[in-house]
Formats: sequence, C-alpha cells, structure tokens
Amino acid sequence: MAAKHSMSLLWLLPLILCELVTMVSSNWTDALRIMNNTPVIDGHNDLPWQLLSKFNNQLGQVDLYTLNDTHTNIPKLVEGRVGAQFWAAYVPCDTQGKDAVKRTLEQIDVVHRMCEKYPGEFLCANSVEGIAEAFRDKKVASLIGVEGGHSIDSSLGVLRTFYNLGVRYMTLTHSCNVPWVDNWLVDTGSDPAKSNGLSEFGKNVILEMNRLGMIVDLAHVSVKTMKDTLQVSQAPVIFSHSSAYELCKHARNVPDDVLRTVKEKRGLVMVNFYNDYVTCKGAANLSDVANHFDHIKKIAGYESVGFGGDYDGVPRVPDGLEDVSKYPHLVAELLRRGWTQTQLEAALANNFLRVFKEVEQTSIKMKTEKPKDAPIAYKEIESDCHTSYGYDIPTDDAAHSHIGKGLLLVCFLYTLLF
Ligand SMILES: [Zn+2]
Repeated sequence: MAAKHSMSLLWLLPLILCELVTMVSSNWTDALRIMNNTPVIDGHNDLPWQLLSKFNNQLGQVDLYTLNDTHTNIPKLVEGRVGAQFWAAYVPCDTQGKDAVKRTLEQIDVVHRMCEKYPGEFLCANSVEGIAEAFRDKKVASLIGVEGGHSIDSSLGVLRTFYNLGVRYMTLTHSCNVPWVDNWLVDTGSDPAKSNGLSEFGKNVILEMNRLGMIVDLAHVSVKTMKDTLQVSQAPVIFSHSSAYELCKHARNVPDDVLRTVKEKRGLVMVNFYNDYVTCKGAANLSDVANHFDHIKKIAGYESVGFGGDYDGVPRVPDGLEDVSKYPHLVAELLRRGWTQTQLEAALANNFLRVFKEVEQTSIKMKTEKPKDAPIAYKEIESDCHTSYGYDIPTDDAAHSHIGKGLLLVCFLYTLLF
C-alpha cells in the first residue's frame, strides 16, 4: 500500500523540480535586476596592497583587465556589479613609528593613479555626490580608507592632510595598539591594554574626524574601543570589514551588545567574508556568510548591515564567493532567505549612503569649530625615531642629548640594514 502510494506521487517530482529551478533562476534574475539599479558599495578591498606586493606600485607593469592571481580585476568588478569600493591604504604595523606615513601616502597615490590610468572604469570619489555620479556613469566609485591609526603617526596634521587627499575613512587600528587607541588583540590577551579603549588624545582624533567628515571605522579595534567610540563620535560609525561575534567567536567580530548600540547610533557593520571570521574554521561557504547577514539583520536591523568582503586582503575566501564577481550570488541567496528588495538595496548601498550623508552633515555642522591643534603628549609617542621640535623638552641635559643622538643613529642604521 505504502509503495503504491509513493508511486502515485512520483508524477509530482518533475513539477517540484521545475518549481525549484524556477525559484532559483528567479532569485538569480531578481538579484541581477536589483544590482543593475543598485550596485554594491563594498567597505574594504586590499587591491592596493597587492599592487605594492606584486609590482612595487609600478602601475605601468599592471593590466587590471588581465590580472588574474588576485580576487579583483576590472572584468570581475563589472560582473560583480561593484558600484563603489573603498580601497584600503593599508601599511603593516611594523611601519609604526618608522615609515608608516610615507608608505600610506604611496598607497593613497597608487589609488589616485589607478583612477587616472582607467578613467572609463574608475572614478575617484570622496563624497555621496561623487558615488552617485559614478553610479550614473556605470563606473566604480573609488574611495580611500586608511587602515590603521599608526598611519597618522599620532598627528592631527597628518590626519587632516589625508582628508585633503581624499581619504574618507580611517580604521582606528590595524592589528597593533597605537599610542592613543587599543586594538582587538587586547581582547585575546596577546597585546596589553594601553589606552583602555580610547585615550584622551584618541577622543580628540574622533572629534576631529567628525569635524572633517571622515568616517570612523571600528574594524580591528578592541571591544572597549568600540564602546568608547560609539559614545564619543558625533556621527554614525562603520565596521568596514567585520562579521558577527555570536556566529564565530573571533575578537575581530562584533558582539551582539555592540550591534545593538550600532543600531541605536545609526551605524553600519559591513560583513567580512574571510573564512576565519565567518566560521572560525579554515573552510566556509556562501551560506555561512549569509548567516552573518541574517544575524546582524536580526540584532541590529537591515538598516545596519552592509558588504565588506576584505578581498585581496585575506588568504581564504568562502566557496561560492571566490572573488569580487560573486556578490550577485550572495544577493540571490539572501532573496531565497526572504530578504525584500528594499532590505537588499539598503544592504547593498543605501545604508552606507545614509551613514556617509550623516557624516557629511555632521561635518558641516561642526565646521564652525576650529581645527583641534593640541598635539599628543611627547611621552605618549612610543618611538625613539621621533624628533621633539615644538615640544618643550629640556635640552640642558647633555646626557639626554647624547642619548637622543645615539637613538637617531640607531634608527638610521636600522633603516640602512633592514
Ligand atoms: Zn583588515
């Protein structure tokens, strides 16, 4: 009887299969339709680091159409419907107190040169209006984010100069403490807490970023730094490439209580695709990444979630999200999970545009304030490779001056040797 019953239902199988195929293909068609109108704004891509590592920034030796050992090239960006990209001006932590500023300037320069070399494909942008223009022209709006406070070498003058060069976010730390702010490794116990979040100078850095109209990025910082900054900042903040801690308990991710404050403060978490932050294992797939979108949506609302792939900055990416051409596959998966068109358009672009607009408006309001010009205390600069011009450092101590000269000589020899 049972066999006869199941036989009688066999005729339904092709219909069910047909229905499934139609659903999958309509999600795919809808994903492409949505992204053709609302391309993705991604929070973090390390192509400039690849250009340095592989070509020492000699763009003349690079063809971004055929470059194929990276996650990113022009055909992949087009296929992935990438409408705006924050290119990371990243320099490693071992440049801190040495040539971090010079190297960061060079990474900013290489992004500018990328826009000049490919004017039909990239448009260097530094405003909401600039992104809208790139969308209209079907180009990739190219924005610059400085990844790590070590890049400003504790100088508000350098911060302002970066802004003038078009930098529109700064990640407060990379994976090292900076004299005025703590990084995520404090939460794993491998770095000591130095500033216990933000120092007083660190709070001034945040307010100066608000006044300038530079977005504060909390990827890579300690939880205490996240909480301090969310209270101090006058404008919404972003996590340019971080995922949900609840799903993968890695200190680079964002805990639920912080997600709730992000919602309250109208900020944004742009989901990182790096396997190790998605599953806390070496392996991950597209569906695992979609889980992070679902979780952040559940805790902070769809208004607080975005895309921050971290392409070309990580050694492992999920199956199904192998490179920047794959964003539409993730959008199709989110459609399958019941995300509405409005919610997807928000995650793809509108959330970021809202945050950026609020950052611009906060800056307009604060522009009546004078630039902050109180320097960091000299004793807080933790590097021997600095001079003390402008600081009131006693010079009548001959021994001190000899030590100073000795240290400068050591720095000089170090630079020569390494
Ligand atoms: Zn990073």
